[in-house]
Amino acid sequence: MSSRRNFLQKLTLSAVSIPFIPGFETKSMNVMNQKPDQSTLLRVAIMGLGSYGTRVAEAMVDSKKAKLVGLISGTPSKITAWQAKYNIPEKNCYNYENFDAIKDNPDIDAVYIITPNALHHPQTLRVAAAGKHVICEKPMALNAREGREMVEACKNAGVKLLVGYRMHFEGNTLEVIRMREAGAFGEVKFFQGLSGFKIGDPTQWRLNKELAGGGAMMDIGIYSVNGARYMVGEEPEWVTAQETKTDPVKFKEGVDETIMFQFGFPSGVVASCLSTYSMSNLDRFFLNGTEGYAEMQPSTGYGPIKGKTHKGPLDKPHITHQTVQMDRMAEIILEGDTAQVPVDGEEGLKDLIIIDTIYKAVKTGKKERIKLG
Ligand code: NAD
Repeated sequence: MSSRRNFLQKLTLSAVSIPFIPGFETKSMNVMNQKPDQSTLLRVAIMGLGSYGTRVAEAMVDSKKAKLVGLISGTPSKITAWQAKYNIPEKNCYNYENFDAIKDNPDIDAVYIITPNALHHPQTLRVAAAGKHVICEKPMALNAREGREMVEACKNAGVKLLVGYRMHFEGNTLEVIRMREAGAFGEVKFFQGLSGFKIGDPTQWRLNKELAGGGAMMDIGIYSVNGARYMVGEEPEWVTAQETKTDPVKFKEGVDETIMFQFGFPSGVVASCLSTYSMSNLDRFFLNGTEGYAEMQPSTGYGPIKGKTHKGPLDKPHITHQTVQMDRMAEIILEGDTAQVPVDGEEGLKDLIIIDTIYKAVKTGKKERIKLG
């Protein structure tokens, strides 16, 4: 590990662990904002300049280790506006037809795919074939079959595949995991995950099965699927699930409005979760054990993440999730670092296997075994 990285890590740690003191933040942020050598920066092209792509680009401005250097979009006017805003050279701009040529561009290390869900699989295969690392948004793909192909393609191409699980780097989330691992909750017995929002425009891609691969489960329910795993610290081995639909016009066949699902874990922990597109601001995690509890609300939104445990409030400082994510992903890709809670393709694939099994359980009405192996 380089001494510069040690230094940066210490800075990050101290910024995370020191409570807010007037004056401290400005001073430390000034130091933290000093960018390292260009040679150690992860040079990223964003594919899909939509609403989340915009958020990631803004957050990357403050990243010490990743830099937006390229654009891939089907809308020339967006490219022009982003080029001006982020000072992106013409030679690093592509559209969806010609981006395979990125293989001949030595100034781009990785492509961050932030397009509708159905495009993640074909675009990942093309980026991997071009020899560039892939960061892909959640859900990684429409189903486990696609996910396996993506993992395989990136492995064969010798590039890394990471999934945009920003919560895996969030301070309060990591604190609850730390407490659980230290035994603070005693024997963990129960997790509850509630994930949902009221979806608007009925014409958007999120309500189109072809582009979204499903409904609320693919988009927001996945936070409770993924969260159940990192909060409990085990992999679920069975699931039961029930679907309800109050608006079959808006939520067509194959587009789930609300699904309740229950997991069983090897140690006997059980989880009860809800995924919905028809309740506002539903974003709550609750973990209970024989000696204590943690509750977080909001638990997966853009933050600040708030919550408390039986020992008191969760008070790690809020740092823009996508800034921390890009710093850590640069360390993973460029320095071979690992994430405490994994963010690799195998991790994305596990969620897809579980979601496939949830959909199966909805259909069969039975308790279905989850086969992650
Ligand atoms: P969006 O609709 O705002 O943006 C999608 C972008 O893809 C647009 O720029 C659009 O022009 C482009 N696009 C390319 N081909 C398209 C096609 N055939 N149809 C429609 N659009 C096409 O969506 P978004 O909210 O930015 O979501 C993009 C991805 O990011 C999704 O996979 C979503 O799940 C994920 N996301 C993740 C988070 C997170 O917190 N990690 C948050 C929001 C979205």
